[in-house]
Order: sequence, then C-alpha cells, then structure tokens
Amino acid sequence: MSLIDYITAAPKAELHLHLEGAIRPATILELAERNGVNLPAITLAELSEWFIFRDFKTFVTVYGTLSNCLITTDDFELITVQLAEELVSQNVKYAEVTFTPSTHYNRGICQKVFFDGLTRGREKARKMGLEINWVFDISRGIEDAEMRNALADYTVGVALEGKEEGVIALGLGGQEAGFPPQLFQHQFSRGIAGGLHSTPHAGEVVGPASVWDALNYLQAERIGHGVRSIEDPQLVAYLAERQIPLEINPTSNLLLGIYPDLDQHPLPHLMAAGVPVSVNSDDPALFGTTLTRELTLLSGEFGFDLESIDQILLNPIRHSFLDKARKESLEKMFLTSLQGLKQKYLTN
Ligand SMILES: [Zn+2]
Repeated sequence: MSLIDYITAAPKAELHLHLEGAIRPATILELAERNGVNLPAITLAELSEWFIFRDFKTFVTVYGTLSNCLITTDDFELITVQLAEELVSQNVKYAEVTFTPSTHYNRGICQKVFFDGLTRGREKARKMGLEINWVFDISRGIEDAEMRNALADYTVGVALEGKEEGVIALGLGGQEAGFPPQLFQHQFSRGIAGGLHSTPHAGEVVGPASVWDALNYLQAERIGHGVRSIEDPQLVAYLAERQIPLEINPTSNLLLGIYPDLDQHPLPHLMAAGVPVSVNSDDPALFGTTLTRELTLLSGEFGFDLESIDQILLNPIRHSFLDKARKESLEKMFLTSLQGLKQKYLTN
C-alpha cells in the first residue's frame, strides 16, 4: 500500500477548474451531432487526438470549437452533470468551478439558457454528494476597449444576479500579457461591493507585477496560478504574511510552457515559504489530467512527505470561499476520513 493509494482514495476539493475545459471529447461529439455543429474530426479517436493540448494556438481553437457546441439549457446541464460524475469518482466533495459567461453571451446564448443549465446540473451534483459553487470569470484579452468593458460589465451583472444560485466569486481569465488587472478595477469593485469574492488569474504568463496588480487593484483574496510570484521575494513574503493562497496547476504550467519540468516548478519553494497553496487541474480534459493525477505528483515528482500532502489536501477547504461553519464541518469530515485512510493504506 502506498501514498498514491492514499491520495487516490482521499476526500478532495478543487478551487481552479474551468467547466468548459472539463468537457470530455465524447461529449463534444454528442453535442456537435445534437446541435449540427461541424467539427474538424469525426471519430472519437480523431477528436481525442485533436483535443489534447499541443500548443497555445490550437488550445484557443479547441476552446472556441467546444464552446460553439453548447447551445441549449440541456447542453449546459449535461456538461455540469458529467463534470460532477467525474469529480465524484475522484472523491471530490467540494469544487469552486469557473465558468466564462461572456464567451457564450457573445455567441448569442442568453443568460437564462446557460444559467438554468448550470443550476440544474449543480442541483444534481448536490444529490451525488458534491457541492459546487461558481466563479464567473471576466475574459481579459479583448482588444476593443469598449467591447472589453461591456463584456466585463455583463459578467459582473450575471455573477451578482447568480449569487443565490451559487455564484461565489469573480475571476479574471484569458490572455494575461497586455491586459493588466487594473483594466478591470471598476468591475471588481462593483462585484466585491455586491458580496462576491475575488480570485483573478495572475502571475502565470506575466511575472510578479501582475500578482501585485491583482492584489492592489482587484483586492484579490486568492490568485489563480500565481506561480511566478516566486520571482519576487517581497511578494512571496507578502503572500505568506497575509495568507493569500495560490491555486496551483502543475500540468497546466508544464503544457503552457511556464516551466520546462516539475524539477523547476516553484510549488515546493512557495510552500516552504509559508504561502498557502492548493493543487488543481485547470482544464483537465484539454490537458489530459485529473485532480487525482495532479495530487499524486506530490508524492511522486515533488517528493512531499505525508504531513505536507495532508496540508495540501486540506488547504482548498480552508481557503475556499465557503462560510466559516461549512469550512469547519468539511475540514472535520476530511480529517476523520484521512485518519481512516492512513490506517488502511499507510500502516503495515
Ligand atoms: Zn485557469
């Protein structure tokens, strides 16, 4: 019995996962057929091949194509339910899932269509034992300033209206270079004033400056990725002192070329410096990974000991945007379960 078995069986939580990046190739095929959308591949094998990440340009094309397959409320419900099934199979108990409303709005899919689907899917997930809350993210990389602002305003509006149905935070995603956080200060201020949390992507493609800007202009409570904070010791000290968590996605960082291999990945250094970290899967279908696989890297490539692994399993609960009572009850449940799993898998 091994640490891998222990991690595989452990209860889990996920804080950085894009709904659209979690759609299985077989589902894309089904949706394309149902909605009459042309795909560049016909068989599942061809589609799976095309789907898996090769370079950023293809990644963007794939993302656009799979989004185009989502037309009806049933489609949005289906992808949410399938994500839930996948997460439940990995013993995930809680997930803050990112969704990008403007991508769909821009294609003429109205709020009611996608949001009803998400809500129905979330309800079914709850019945399966998985709690989902939503992070609605603003898409940053739009050249036309007027359009960029209008879509960001739209996203905040939808997020605020969805608070009763589980929208818990605002995110900021898409092309980081050339689109700094301060462009979206107004929208984040509005969202935060309305009771949303703030978790923008920063410090992935752009260095520490982008993390500082996310903290200063967007009142970021967590940072999506944030790995390049490591390049600024002052920033690392700040994150540790304020206990601002980073949502780290190791495989995503390798595939997008942020780091050439895990030996050079800063996760162990950030953790040693006292920065709270969680490990996540980002776009699991496109990157050919799962949350369990990302977590098993901890005992394998990263060589963490049991104590550190337990900390990383608990961190996403402690640093979730759930209320205090819910966090405490989930943490207690995780601790009890981990105790049992230690006896099962880690004692001779
Ligand atoms: Zn992401």
